[in-house]
Amino acid sequence: MSSNMRIEKICAYCGGNFIAQKTITQTCSDDCAKRYYKRRKRDEKIQTAIQQAAIQKPYNPVIKEKEYISIDEACSLLGASRWTIYRLIDKGSLSVAKIGRRTIIMKATIDQLFNIPL
Ligand SMILES: [Zn+2]
Repeated sequence: MSSNMRIEKICAYCGGNFIAQKTITQTCSDDCAKRYYKRRKRDEKIQTAIQQAAIQKPYNPVIKEKEYISIDEACSLLGASRWTIYRLIDKGSLSVAKIGRRTIIMKATIDQLFNIPL
């Protein structure tokens, strides 16, 4: 009986109805199977890329609690580039201090950015 198994299924790639001989069959034809496989591989790559980006730039909620933050933390907090942050510092929009060779930003001045009329 199992050798004559006929299962009505919907193709995972083209969405068409087809009769499958095996329960594991997901697509209606070899063509769809190949394309479906390619699409899945591509989606996996995209997912991996997204996950890696998240690992490289983890959002650190602790930054919000700090009074003084680094340039990198300001970038992360605002989603801005270092260049943008330096430009804001040059304009005098952000108050900074030098601790040795490090530049730190007073976080309150970042909050103030939101009060400056455009
Ligand atoms: Zn198909």
